[in-house]
Amino acid sequence: MAWPYFLDCARYFAPEEDGCFDPLELLRGDLEVEEEPPSGLPPAFIRFAHHSYAQMAGAEADSCPWRVLKRTAARCPEVARTYSIGRSFDGKDLLVIEFSSRPGQHELLEPEVKLIGNIHGNEGGRGELLIYLAQYLCSEYLLGNPRIQRLLNTTRIHLLPSMNPDGYEVAAAEGAGYNGWTSGRQNAQNLDLNRNFPDLTSEFYRLASVRGARPDHIPIPQDYWWGKVAPETKAIMKWMRSAPFVLSASLHGGDLVVSYPFDYSKNPLQRKMFSPTPDEKMFKLLARAYADVHPMMMDRSENRCGGNFLKHGSIINGADWYSFTGGMSDFNYLHSNCFELTVELGCVKFPPEEALYGLWQHNKEPLLNFVEM
Ligand SMILES: [Zn+2]
Repeated sequence: MAWPYFLDCARYFAPEEDGCFDPLELLRGDLEVEEEPPSGLPPAFIRFAHHSYAQMAGAEADSCPWRVLKRTAARCPEVARTYSIGRSFDGKDLLVIEFSSRPGQHELLEPEVKLIGNIHGNEGGRGELLIYLAQYLCSEYLLGNPRIQRLLNTTRIHLLPSMNPDGYEVAAAEGAGYNGWTSGRQNAQNLDLNRNFPDLTSEFYRLASVRGARPDHIPIPQDYWWGKVAPETKAIMKWMRSAPFVLSASLHGGDLVVSYPFDYSKNPLQRKMFSPTPDEKMFKLLARAYADVHPMMMDRSENRCGGNFLKHGSIINGADWYSFTGGMSDFNYLHSNCFELTVELGCVKFPPEEALYGLWQHNKEPLLNFVEM
């Protein structure tokens, strides 16, 4: 029997007569059965399926419990907890699972990292990766994996699988594989969340020509608040003030490349223009930490997905790809000194469930390597 949906099953499940316990038996029908793994087995596994919002967060705490994330945190209470950073326009919780040696507390000199999925609701599978990562971190921690134990003891990791649960529901209703390129991209107010952040990049370019001006921790301009600001965007900004994040990645789909700031061109009339930050070297190093261990990004065949980026080693300056304003990465960097990458994980916007295991296999090491940076 093949195990397309489960990772390293032998590691998580006791062998049966065919050499591997059948986790599918646990999963058929009600998810609740996963509460009761056979005794003596590590109480965790990864289910490679699209998690609907109801499974992920739960509209009502009782009628729709926070399933996968909350359960994962409950399995690893010493190193994990869930919390909400706010609500979407339609009122869905923006749920985060945090891993650290002291959940809920910032410790001096402990780097804070965040990973964000589904800023574009139609880019399915990206948030799923973070749910798998959460399950993986918890399982491996419990199994005594020294790499994961060291990581959780030295780093505080926050995973937000869905920043745009309203958009995700629209896209998921159309179905994986059938979803067009735009349905569900925006939030319920029809705002593209990755264009909704304050444009501090223009201010940076202005300050760069002013002698003695400090182009970091740039404040949000007042007139920004006169426009339409999505609750999801506000929640992220508030979140950024709650912890001194130093590293972040936002997971997307539709291409295969890691892009880094600036996303907004230094010449607004140029749709494409290499526009580096003063931390160009660091951003490149971080982007390489992801791309260089990703088997598809390293694939040198020209007709592979994302072939345009081959000559760049699958990393690119955002504005050199296409310039846009109001992006989350530029804002992170300029407002809070958090280094955020945009990771395009594959050419299919909303992959079918069969593709999720492969997506995880390709991105597990890059995600870990990146967080370790
Ligand atoms: Zn996107």
